[in-house]
Amino acid sequence: MNVVCEIAPAEKWQADVLVLFVYSGEEETRPEPYAGLEKVMAEAVPWLAGSPAFADFEAAKASTSVAYAPEAIDGGIKRVVLAGLGPQAKCDGYCLREAASAALAKCRSLKCVRAALPLDVLDGLPLEQGKALEEVVFAGLQSGYTYEELKSEKDKKVGFPEELVVLGKADPDQAIHTALKQAQAAHAGVALCKDLVNAPPNVADADYMAEAAKDMADQYGFAIEVMDKDQVKEMGMGAFYAVAQGSDGPANLIVLKTKAAIQDNAKPLAVVGKGVTFDTGGISLKPASAMSSMKADMAGAAAVLGLFKALGELGVDIPVLGVVPCTDNMPSGKAFRPEDVVTTLSGKTVEITNTDAEGRLLLCDGLTYAQRFDPSLVVDLATLTGACVIALGNHVAAAFGTSEELAAELRELGDQQGERYWPMPLWDMFFEGLKSPVADMQNSGPREGGAIVAAMFLKQFVEDGVDWLHLDIAGPEVTNKKGGASMATGFGVRTLLALAREKYMQ
Ligand SMILES: [Zn+2]
Repeated sequence: MNVVCEIAPAEKWQADVLVLFVYSGEEETRPEPYAGLEKVMAEAVPWLAGSPAFADFEAAKASTSVAYAPEAIDGGIKRVVLAGLGPQAKCDGYCLREAASAALAKCRSLKCVRAALPLDVLDGLPLEQGKALEEVVFAGLQSGYTYEELKSEKDKKVGFPEELVVLGKADPDQAIHTALKQAQAAHAGVALCKDLVNAPPNVADADYMAEAAKDMADQYGFAIEVMDKDQVKEMGMGAFYAVAQGSDGPANLIVLKTKAAIQDNAKPLAVVGKGVTFDTGGISLKPASAMSSMKADMAGAAAVLGLFKALGELGVDIPVLGVVPCTDNMPSGKAFRPEDVVTTLSGKTVEITNTDAEGRLLLCDGLTYAQRFDPSLVVDLATLTGACVIALGNHVAAAFGTSEELAAELRELGDQQGERYWPMPLWDMFFEGLKSPVADMQNSGPREGGAIVAAMFLKQFVEDGVDWLHLDIAGPEVTNKKGGASMATGFGVRTLLALAREKYMQ
C-alpha cells in the first residue's frame, strides 16, 4: 500500500472510501461527536449524518460500519468506513491502532483501490495530530501484512487498498511529513522482522539471517561483518559455540553498524538479539508439544535486523551497533551436554545444567562483544524464558535494567509505540540459584522466578558502569490464537527505533 499526501478543498476530495473514527457515546448521543469528525462530516460528507449506518453504529472498539451516500448525490465521496474507538474516556493509542487496523482491513475486504484519511478527523483523538497520523498509518500498513511466500495460491485481497491517501486542505507542516515517514519506516522494519520470524526453520537458518543483514548493508550502506561457526570458536565465544556445536547447520555472529557507529567516539546504542533459529532444547530435549513456535526463538535477532531496516528507510544516521548471534539448538553426538563447563568470551566459566537454557549462552558472549565498542547503552532482546510468559502473559514483555529508571523509561517509550513492557527486579539474591560447585556459575537455576534468574545470569556479563536493558520478549513475539497458528508480531522493533531516536535525535 502506497501512502500519499494530497491537498485539495474538501469538496474536491476523491477516493473509493473515506476512513473516519467514531467514539461510542451514551445511547442518546451515539455516535459521540468530536471536533474533527464534525468538521469532516460538515465539509466532505454532509449526507453521513442522515445515514442509518452512522446513526446505528455503536462504535465498539475496533468495530466497523460502512455508510453509502444516497444515490442522488453527484460527485464527492460516496462511501465511508466508520471505525469504532469505544468510549472516549477510555480511548488511548492502543484503541486507535486497533480501530485503524480494523478500518483498513475493511477497506481491503471491500477491495477499495484508494482509501482516504482526512487529516482533520485526527483532531480530537487521544494522541496529538502528528503522532495520531503516525499510529493510524502504521497500523493501517501493518493490517495488510501477510506471509504468503510459501503458499501456491495467494489471497486475492492482498494488495488492497493500493493507496492510502492522506487528505489535507492546506500544505501540511513538517510534522505531518515526518509522521508519515516514521510510520512507513517502522512498518518496513516490523514487516522484515515478521518475515524472518514467520519463515520456517528449514529456510530461516543462520545463513539466511546473515544474507538478510548483508542485503540491508548493501542497500543502506551499513558496515557488516559475519563470523561463522569456526570463527566464533576461534574468537573465544565458548558459550555461543557450545550451543552451535551440535548442529550440522550454520551458525553466524552477525555484526551490523550504521555509518555513525563507525566514527571515533561514536558511543553507539548496542543492540544484541537472540537468534536461535530453532530450539529443540538440545540434549535436554523439549517435549514435542513445547516445540511449536520454536522457529520464533530468533525473534530478538529479527527485531534487531528490523531496527536496522527501519533506520535505513528513515534515512537517519545515528550510531547503532547490532550484534546478532544465530544458530539452531540441536541434539546430536557433537552436541553440548548437561555438566559440560564452557568458557565464555568474558573469561567467566559456566557449568551447563540445562541445554535448553541456550539463549543466555548466545547472549552472554554477544553482550561481552558489544561492550568492546564503548556503547552508551546496551539493550538485549530475547525470547528467553517460558517463566516470563507465566509471569506476564502473552502480550507483555519484561524489562530488566541496571537502574529502575532505565526500565521505567523503556516502559513509557514502549507504551507510546503500542508495545507493553513491565519492569522486573534484579536483586542479587536471585544469583543464589545460579551458583555452581565447579564453575563461576550455572546456566540454569530454579524454576521459581525463572525470568529474573535468567536476567541475573546475563547481568554477570555486564561490566560495571555500563547501562544495560534486558527485554524478555517470550510471549508477545507471536500471536497466540487458540487452536490456530502463531504468527509473528514484530514486537520490539518500534521500541528499539524509538529508543535510538530518543537517545540521539532529541
Ligand atoms: Zn531453549
